[in-house]
Amino acid sequence: MPVFNLIDPTLATIAEKVAAGTRLSREDGIALYASNDLLGIGQMADFARRRINGDRVYFMVNRHINPTNICRNRCKFCAFARNADEPGAYEMTLDEVANAAAEGAADGAYEIHIVSGLHPDWSYEFYIDMVARTRAAVPDHVIVQAFTAVEIEHMAIISKKTTREVLSDLKDAGLDALPGGGAEIFSDRTRVAAWDKKTKGDVWLRIHGEAHELGIATNCTMLYGHIETTDERIDHLILLREQQDKTGGFLAFIPLAFHAANTELEDLPATTGFDDLKTLAIARLMLDNIPHVKAFWIMVGLKIAQIATAFGVDDIDGTVVEERITHMAGATTPEALSKDDLVTMITEGGRVPVERDTLYRIVKMYAEESAAPAWHAGEIGAPPLVGVAKGTVATGGHSAATE
Ligand code: SF4
Repeated sequence: MPVFNLIDPTLATIAEKVAAGTRLSREDGIALYASNDLLGIGQMADFARRRINGDRVYFMVNRHINPTNICRNRCKFCAFARNADEPGAYEMTLDEVANAAAEGAADGAYEIHIVSGLHPDWSYEFYIDMVARTRAAVPDHVIVQAFTAVEIEHMAIISKKTTREVLSDLKDAGLDALPGGGAEIFSDRTRVAAWDKKTKGDVWLRIHGEAHELGIATNCTMLYGHIETTDERIDHLILLREQQDKTGGFLAFIPLAFHAANTELEDLPATTGFDDLKTLAIARLMLDNIPHVKAFWIMVGLKIAQIATAFGVDDIDGTVVEERITHMAGATTPEALSKDDLVTMITEGGRVPVERDTLYRIVKMYAEESAAPAWHAGEIGAPPLVGVAKGTVATGGHSAATE
């Protein structure tokens, strides 16, 4: 049994559960947030991470494309969106999207990641064509991960189709996976206060469940550090966990630290390093059925992302190019990192850097590991029902993996 050096004795019962692999309750999650024993929580999260993912820390080479910032919603927390006649508004043509995707693939990206505003004039066919053109512009091994549940709901409204039909059409056009954005915090209180026109929590969860049932893998997120309470964060995590129990297609959970600059909520302070690490660690402890927890370095910064690999995180995202959404909200991180940067960040923490694709198939391992992690080897935990291939990526007839 592992021994955790806890400063806060109230965490002892939770530590016993973590050691035994027992699911944590809502009350446990609330108790974790109430505790200041960051190192104790981090040790438990690190243990939970190691059980699932061994010494691997994943990263990927991807290309973000944000085809327009023109959006009809204008959420209060969003620094990215513009009206069409506002300075800074932009929209890309399908040629420009396809060219950016082709350029990304030529640079070695294994994922084209497309997220946009809700352009009031784009037709349903335009979205379907965007996926088809992107799919045609990149080799088969490149995953097209596109459109949040908010965009899927928007497409359902403009096409008068169901969200399931929209997902099915997008899949037929070449969509492989959905990103996890747009979940924010599922509490209706916060939604009404800060993003009243945006997709409701139950609809967001339903859309992801439908995607899973159609064989489309997805990620999930939580926007934290704005007007939500820590109890609302725990409720959010539990709703994700319950959805995963039902449809099992979430690959990774990504907490997104709120950036207030240039938004209507810009008086709010930035999240602290303490809160970022605690949130990542608590996510690892609560989400026992989601294989990966990712620190999105664009949002939490490089230093916190690196330290987070000792606090339950097994993924530090990728070499992102042309990320606009967080940078328009004041993120001071670079827009891209080289592979060498990421490998160095991971190696310094004593972990094994693993380059992956969207589905966590291995592209390349950068060091030897003593044994395949238990989850990856099928020894513990049920894998998600869809989306995760535990093998390697085939790139045009040869395996890109070293194992
Ligand atoms: S958060 Fe998304 S839906 Fe809301 S205004 Fe920004 S781009 Fe539009």
